[in-house]
Formats: sequence, C-alpha cells, structure tokens
Amino acid sequence: MRDIIQLLPDAVANQIAAGEVVQRPASVVKELLENSIDAGATEIKLIVKDAGKTLIQVIDNGKGMTETDARMAFERHATSKIRKAEDLFKITSMGFRGEALASIAAVAQVECKTKREEDDLGTELKFEGTANVTQGYCQTPQGTIIAVKNLFFNIPARRNFLKSDQVELKHIIDEFERVAIAHSDLEFSLTHNQNIVFHLPAGNLRKRISGIFGAKYNERLVPVDEQTDIVKVSGFVIKPEHARKTRGEQFFFVNNRFIRNNYLHHAISEAYKELLMPDQHPGYFLFMEIDPARIDVNIHPTKTEIKFDDEKSIYAIIRSSVKHALGQFNVTPAIDFERENAISVAPLKKGEPIRFPSITVNPDFNPFDASPRTEKRTSHHDWGQKQQKVQSQNWEALFTPQETPEEQQLELEPNWNDTDAHEAEHIMQVAQTYLLKATRTGMLLIHQQRAHHRILYERFLKNIENQSAASQQLLFPQQISITAGELQLIESYLDDLRQIGFDIERLGKTTLVIQGIPLALQEGESLQALEEILENLKHDSASFSLNKSHQLALVLARHGAVKAGKPLSVEEMIHLAGQLFTCQVPQYDPIGRPTLITITNEEISKKFN
Ligand code: ADP
Ligand code: MG
Repeated sequence: MRDIIQLLPDAVANQIAAGEVVQRPASVVKELLENSIDAGATEIKLIVKDAGKTLIQVIDNGKGMTETDARMAFERHATSKIRKAEDLFKITSMGFRGEALASIAAVAQVECKTKREEDDLGTELKFEGTANVTQGYCQTPQGTIIAVKNLFFNIPARRNFLKSDQVELKHIIDEFERVAIAHSDLEFSLTHNQNIVFHLPAGNLRKRISGIFGAKYNERLVPVDEQTDIVKVSGFVIKPEHARKTRGEQFFFVNNRFIRNNYLHHAISEAYKELLMPDQHPGYFLFMEIDPARIDVNIHPTKTEIKFDDEKSIYAIIRSSVKHALGQFNVTPAIDFERENAISVAPLKKGEPIRFPSITVNPDFNPFDASPRTEKRTSHHDWGQKQQKVQSQNWEALFTPQETPEEQQLELEPNWNDTDAHEAEHIMQVAQTYLLKATRTGMLLIHQQRAHHRILYERFLKNIENQSAASQQLLFPQQISITAGELQLIESYLDDLRQIGFDIERLGKTTLVIQGIPLALQEGESLQALEEILENLKHDSASFSLNKSHQLALVLARHGAVKAGKPLSVEEMIHLAGQLFTCQVPQYDPIGRPTLITITNEEISKKFN
C-alpha cells in the first residue's frame, strides 16, 4: 500500500494557521499592536483604511529588528519571546506563539520597514501571500512600520465573508481600546480614512478611560485596589447609577492582557447585587496581576481566554474587592488625575483572610426607586394631551376593531355600536393596570401598558415611513457622550432617528447633542430610549439593521408606554381604548403578547354555578 500522508507546504500551513489567528481586520490590529508593545514602543500609531480591508498600518518607535530577524519574524513559529517549553509558564510578553506575522503574510500583501537604534540603515521587506517578493535596505526612523494591505486578497471566500465597514471598524476600535486601556502609559493614535479617531497621550488609567469614553467617565469611576497573596486587583468599577441596560464597558485584564471570563464576570455581578436592576449590567476596568506560573494563556489562539490555577479564590477576591470599592465610593473624595495613586484602599496583609466588606454608606440609595421622571409625568400624559382630542362621543369609530380575527371572540361591533356617550364613561381601572368595560356579551379587559405600547409602536412606525414625526425642542439641549465606535454605528441611524422626531447633532468625535425629541415621549424616556438603541446597536448591529424601522419603533414605544400600575383618569382610559382600536393589530402588543381579553356572559354565569 502506498503511503499517502504528506507534510503541507508552508504556504498552505500558514493559511490554515491564519484561519485561526486572522479572522478579520481587527485580529491583525491586535497582533500588530501587541508586537509593538512587546518591542518596547512608547508611541504607537495605527492607521486604517476602509475598516482595515484596504490598509492596516502600525508605526512604532520600538527596538526594531536586525535584517535577519526581520526575515525570520515572518517564518512560522519564529519568535524571540520564548525558547523552550518551560518558558510558556513565565510569559510576560503579549505574543509568544510566533505565528502572527507568518499568518498575516499568508493572507495579505505585507510591507515591513524596521531599524534598530544602532543601525544606520533599516531593512525593507515585502510579502505577498507568504512569497517574499523583495528585500532591501531603506531609510527609516528607529522602530518598525508594518503595512498590511488587501487582507484576504488571495482568499475571496474570506474576503466576502467580512462584514460592512461599520461593523469591521467597530471590531478594530474594540481591539484598539483594549490594548490602549491595558497600556495607559503608552501613547496611541488611531486614524481611519484620514480622520483621527483617537489620540491618546501617555497618562494613567483614569485619563486613558476618559480619553476613550469621554470626560464624563472621570466622575463615574470607583477605584479598586486590593493586594493578596495570589493576585493583585486594581483598576476601576463604574458607579451603580451609571450602569448600562446592556453590557457596557466590561474589561478584564490579566497581566495586562485583555481576557474574557464569564466566571469572573459573575463575581463582579455578585458584588453589584442589589445595587443594580435586573436588566442593568456593571461596568468595570479591572486589572489582575498574577504569577504567570499560575495561569495558562496558551489555551486559545487569540489568547483572549486563559485558565487559572485557583479560580475559586480569585473569584472570591474579585467579588470582595469590588464590594469593598463600591462600599467606599461615597466617602472617597473627588479624585483628580494627578492624585489617583494617592488614594487607595488599605491592602490586605499577607495571609489575612479576605474580609467581606459591608456597604455602609448611602443607606438611602435605592436603584429601584422610581426616577424623578415619574413625577414629571403626573401632570400631563403624552398620550392624553399631545394627541388630537378624542371625540369620546364617537364610540363607534373608536372601539370598532379593524382586523380582529374571529377567534378573538371580540364581538365588539354590535355591542359598542349602541353604547351611548353616557355609558362610555363606565370604564374603570382594575389593579391600576387593566381597563374594564362591560359589553353586551360580557366584558373586556385591556392591559394598559401593552395597549399603549402597541399604539405608540404603530405611530412611530408610521412616522418613520411617512418621514413625518413631530418633534419638540428641548429647552436645555442634552449631551450624550459616546465612544468613537458607537458614533460609527449610530451614524447611519441618524436619519431614521430624525424621522422619528429626534433632533440630533454630533459634536466632535464623542458627543451627541440632542436638541429635540419625539413629541410623543418625555425627555427622560427619550434619552433612555436613545441609550438603549445605542446599546442594541453595539450588541447586535446586524440584526438591528436588518429591521431598522421596526426596532427603532419598538424601543421608543416601550420607553414611551404608560406603565402598569399607573392610575389613569377616565378621559385617559377612554382615549387609550379608542386609540387601541384604531391600530392595525389591536389585540397584541408589538412583541406578541395579548393587549386585551374578553370574558363572556356565559363564562361569568358559569362561575356562579
Ligand atoms: P510573537 O509575537 O508571538 O513572537 P509574531 O509573529 O507576532 O510572533 O512576531 C514574530 C517576532 O517578530 C517577534 O517575536 C519579534 O521578535 C518580532 N517582531 C514582530 N513585530 C515587531 C515589532 N513591531 N518590533 C520589533 N520586533 C517585532
Ligand atoms: Mg506577536
């Protein structure tokens, strides 16, 4: 029998490796930035064109490479960072697998210029799909410049698989942010299509976070600082009152490497327990320093997952450090950038058991308290006054369902038709949640919140379609600080948001100014809705953009809908019911739950048997 196993040619092996390491432009960004950091650079510039699809270039002032090293760097499993297997257990560099550059060169056109301080001339190399096209000398400053052009030019299937520029750029910005947060002592910049997205001077962590997410973050941060035998925990958590509705800023770094870890995330959530509403998520920028021998970073090709020796203790330490920090934040004086280091929580002494810090401050703080906007609402209801006055006499028109299916057993038409105006007022609220109305065949119960959700949803949808929303100008325009990444995402929604009644301008790179909001919404609700839209976009922009109008209308309607538990006046109830029956689909709210039920006389009489 003939032997059939052969070694793969290098080019093929590299392409296979690239499949793991280089998934998208952002993966290239990550690898190149990490290489620059490992090379001791203090200033790192990232230049990107067309979301990295055309160009990803990293310029650093690191130590550079010799001619031979530059050539070797692009070989597979070529690294200066480890020599033997034991080294894997004391890794302090970002890279070590020695496959990034080889992988990248296998799937792109790569140019590299590099020079060490002590050399007069630099080395210039060009690759195209692993083939070394040219090599020579060049004039170049100390450090390394690597340009990656036309990623996946030789793998059309991968290239076609890339998402829109918006989405790919968001991934790049995510990677950039992670690296920049992990290395606040280095200067970074990111330029996309000639626009400077970030310029972050060297500073401390607090400055870096504010530089990326906006100056507002400065006052939102609560320092965390605990030293134990096995791990040092530092960084910041975000005050509970600034928690986001969906996962916001959640950053874990282990020995300055960004990692994902659901288990440790859970530890933080536990620390925030009772301080957040069930639908809110904690924000954090947490750094763990741990003996490299106690972790395994080599379990994932992009090194974003790691294994800990003693996960349980680390869980307990994280949870108690965060609790401790949250418990202190009210008594901690305002912190400015320079004094950051001066303020820290007393470190745990070696061997001392982990204290379970109690939260003693701010006993009145209750995140479940209704926010002030509920008070504002009591005087006027958007749906009660801002819409055209209902002719409450016209029951026929109001309560005639348009497309009520047979099985709904509404049987409303004959009953409401001969209801006169006087009887119409016999509508009452049950449990401050349901509107009850007797009909000739029985009774009708309307769920006020769901009904209003349906009404507003259809109205917003129509507004988007007709481009005809009424807007109310805010007396005091509101500013929302957002990240450059969020701005990219929301940009293509600005027109739709305007159609729905938002008057939004961008101010610089990280601020939106809200001048006007939809007429049908209160100010607080509008801003919350806007934040939620942003979060949804970040979370799953693909599915959000698939059905833009629906999604926008859904979020706005939910925020605007009158809540269950809210007392209503008779006029309000009449108006609500009337509006509901002019909807296209009155019997369900926009997420498919029933808005109303009927109970027939028969059913009632059965109950008396
Ligand atoms: P790894 O980072 O895992 O070692 P890479 O393929 O990313 O593997 O890089 C291979 C080698 O090339 C590195 O070990 C390093 O010696 C060298 N190198 C890569 N990028 C740079 C840079 N920007 N400056 C100096 N040396 C670099
Ligand atoms: Mg590397």
